Amino acid sequence: ETVKRFKSDFIRRSDVLEIEEPSIDFGDVGGYEGVKEMVRKNLIWALRRTQRAELAALSLPRGILIYGPPGTGKTLFAKALSKETSLPFINLKTENLFSKYLGESGQRVRDAIRLVEQASPAIVFVDEIDRFGNRKGGKTDSASQETGRVFAQMLEWLGDPGRKSIIVGTTNVPGDLDTAFLRPGRFSYVIPFLYPNKSARKQILEMHLGLSGSRRRPAMDESGIRSVLPKITAETEFYAGADLEEVVMRAKQNFFEDSTAAMTPAHLLSAHKDYRIDTENRRGLADHYKSLGPTFANSVKLLEEMERQ
Ligand code: ATP
Repeated sequence: ETVKRFKSDFIRRSDVLEIEEPSIDFGDVGGYEGVKEMVRKNLIWALRRTQRAELAALSLPRGILIYGPPGTGKTLFAKALSKETSLPFINLKTENLFSKYLGESGQRVRDAIRLVEQASPAIVFVDEIDRFGNRKGGKTDSASQETGRVFAQMLEWLGDPGRKSIIVGTTNVPGDLDTAFLRPGRFSYVIPFLYPNKSARKQILEMHLGLSGSRRRPAMDESGIRSVLPKITAETEFYAGADLEEVVMRAKQNFFEDSTAAMTPAHLLSAHKDYRIDTENRRGLADHYKSLGPTFANSVKLLEEMERQ
């Protein structure tokens, strides 16, 4: 209902906002079980059992910050969260905010926040929240002053006790975030999304092959495909979910170009053999994000899960 009611308003009045109704849920996100569990307990149940939450004087987490390397499913998770909570997904398009409207960003943000709050409760997705900058720098040119104003508005919104929206921010560079973003009352949870571990990689491959979750399944020799998954899973350390999706996509392409009636293990193995990542670079990145854990992740349980990656 909210999506229907606000869609035209969003399109007409703001090209920095996009409202969606995601079709995927947690069953389409491989791995990250601890995060799903935490969100289920602290957010989804509280939203579903409002009377119980009231009894416990429980206030909902209204801000979640997810950090990690590119392609690990941060956006996917935020969309699934929207589906799981039955709340609309509103994308605050930060790239439009800063590239198109230099000089008008302050006004744009103010309008966007007003519109978002009217449509809330909603999941508000702020990709690359680090773009909002920080208070450091001390430059006095008008572009920097503008960024500074937008930064202050964003902080005010995040810290507003009356805010109805649930803000899910993501960043690849948590170290660039102003510490003000991390103060209590702004993001209730700061969640690491590192490269998927072995069991998560298997789940992700299965999901993209349509063997589980809601994605479409190509015609396939299922038992043959399943039999090669352990090998591929073992050989894909430091792959992000997006890389695994690409391997499956290439296997589908191989099948499409071949004359077989169904996808065979050879199609998948050949796609796997052909796809390369820079493992050393990824190892370095993984270590880097891991080392940031104690500084950023604000939950011991989630940190422990990350250590197991
Ligand atoms: P970036 O930091 O670059 O914005 P991201 O972490 O937000 O990246 P997504 O855009 O969510 O990454 O992931 C890209 C695609 O990779 C997803 O649409 C999905 O198809 C696939 N993918 C990534 N992680 C997972 C996962 N855990 N389970 C299933 N698919 C995944």
